[in-house]
Amino acid sequence: MKMHYATLRLGRTATEAQIKAAYRARARELHPDAVPTVDPRGFVELSEAYQTLTDPAARADYDARLLSYCRKLKWVLCEGCGQPNRVPRVPAGQVATCGRCRIELPAVGVEETPRSRLREKAIEVAVEIGGDLLDVAGDYLHQRLAKMRRGGGV
Ligand SMILES: [Zn+2]
Repeated sequence: MKMHYATLRLGRTATEAQIKAAYRARARELHPDAVPTVDPRGFVELSEAYQTLTDPAARADYDARLLSYCRKLKWVLCEGCGQPNRVPRVPAGQVATCGRCRIELPAVGVEETPRSRLREKAIEVAVEIGGDLLDVAGDYLHQRLAKMRRGGGV
């Protein structure tokens, strides 16, 4: 997966004008005619990033793939420079910062627990606590249902 935003050193919400400006600035550093000692692959990568991100349909498709890729690897993209960062569990009261530009990274979203897993967990807890909880929950649900049937809402 190519990191187009990191190549342009832009966050994922960059506007087209910002992308164009970043491309021009990076091209001065990466174009082999401007800097003969530079690896030409850098400019090829930059051009690819520019072409993808300035085409709205290609950008939308790329964004969707990038987000699912980062989610899978538990990477957080820097909002300042687009650098993917592997963020470990951050202790309370501390923040994670980008490894490249050092700005604060967006908070890592709490991973959503699949519903099936929640249900399993609820059963585990119920078994641990004992039948009392099930009786209480049963009564509660019964009352709610009865109220709904009377048309009183929930
Ligand atoms: Zn950064």
